[in-house]
Amino acid sequence: MTGKTHIIGGIAACVITVRFTPYDPLLLTAAGIFGSLLPDICHSGSKIGRKIPLLSKLVSALFGHRTFTHSLLFLLLIQVLFSLFHLPDEVSAGVLVGAASHLLLDAATKNGIKLLYPLQMTFRLPLTIRTGGAAENGILAGLVLLVFYFGQHII
Ligand SMILES: [Zn+2]
Repeated sequence: MTGKTHIIGGIAACVITVRFTPYDPLLLTAAGIFGSLLPDICHSGSKIGRKIPLLSKLVSALFGHRTFTHSLLFLLLIQVLFSLFHLPDEVSAGVLVGAASHLLLDAATKNGIKLLYPLQMTFRLPLTIRTGGAAENGILAGLVLLVFYFGQHII
């Protein structure tokens, strides 16, 4: 999926999460936006990869695209790192929810993800689309509707 779809997906996941948790909506969603882009650190042409090119190239060289950073192991690492730095719960939860939304959206693409990395098994949803294609615009529109539906309960 493209960066804008991941961002809206991260926002949607966070506004839904806010409905079921006591977390501060703004802090959770801001962290969620970051988390929604974080897995693509493995791709130097991604939104986050262009911001931190050296780290992106290093991660890409070490793991390749859509492997380690698109796995459950990566989500676990995020949690461990954030607990070590004693960040607020909203921040770690937001990044985790945003990153999980990224993995779910990329699992809906034809290339899929290596969810169980280091196992090389590719995981994809039963229905997949091509990144940047017309169907992605439909998913983006659906995510925007989710944001408005669940977001109206926040304000
Ligand atoms: Zn990705």
